[in-house]
Amino acid sequence: MFSRDAKDEVAGVPVQAACCAATFVRGFMIFGNVEDTAAGPVARISSSRASAARAIIAAARVAGIDAHTDRARSGRRFSMRIPLAHVVRNGFGAAHHGLPVRACCRRTLLRAAFLSCGSVSDPSRGTHLEFFCRSDAAARFVCDLVGRFGLDASIARRRGRPLVYVKHGDAVSMLLGLMGANHAVLRLADQRAVSQTKNSIRRTVNSETANAARAAASAARQRDAALRALATVRAPKMSPALREAARLRIAFPTRTLRELARAARPPISKAAMASRLRLLERMAER
Ligand SMILES: [Zn+2]
Repeated sequence: MFSRDAKDEVAGVPVQAACCAATFVRGFMIFGNVEDTAAGPVARISSSRASAARAIIAAARVAGIDAHTDRARSGRRFSMRIPLAHVVRNGFGAAHHGLPVRACCRRTLLRAAFLSCGSVSDPSRGTHLEFFCRSDAAARFVCDLVGRFGLDASIARRRGRPLVYVKHGDAVSMLLGLMGANHAVLRLADQRAVSQTKNSIRRTVNSETANAARAAASAARQRDAALRALATVRAPKMSPALREAARLRIAFPTRTLRELARAARPPISKAAMASRLRLLERMAER
């Protein structure tokens, strides 16, 4: 859903400059197919989104390219035909894979790549933007293109075809932003804020759990020591203050140091209670 919305948003970015319009159509050819037909070779460009099909037709019109929608809509993809002769004559054939000189055209090309073979994962399931290419040449081309924006893309294979992907959240947002999918960028940022909050809550809970476990372990150790000290250390060696601390720890095994300190008569500081319990532990060791 997120991916489809992002594609519709990208397709909705108007292609106005003539340079970009030609580049847009060229992009679809780089990531599409060139087929031999009875009427001669045609570049077949296709997309799963009707919005993308409309965008190609509109861009082709601006660029003066003779594009037609295929009458037969295969499966769930919309496809268009562009006579290859026309394309070659205009100097932007699919075979020529140089990156455009103009920055506006590089962004346009990124949009075409995304619309023809790209997708982005739902932000609630992590950040991942990919281009599932038809050929290694197309995959290298996307990598170069992404690289020109200062981002690193990785290549993997899926069902024998190259898959170019970007995983880092910042990189995914930046690519979506470059393509004009501002709404998608905002949704991604929202989701990342939510997961950051969740992570920080998880960290806090984890550290609280760890603290509680540490406190329980030392209380048990103190109680052990108190029992042994009371049983083995004779009265003159053990001051009434220490004896009180031992009894308190034995009586209240789960109380915190602060609570034990308050229960002493007279009440003492937490640090004083800690030092009495340490002393008891040392006595018990002997
Ligand atoms: Zn341009």
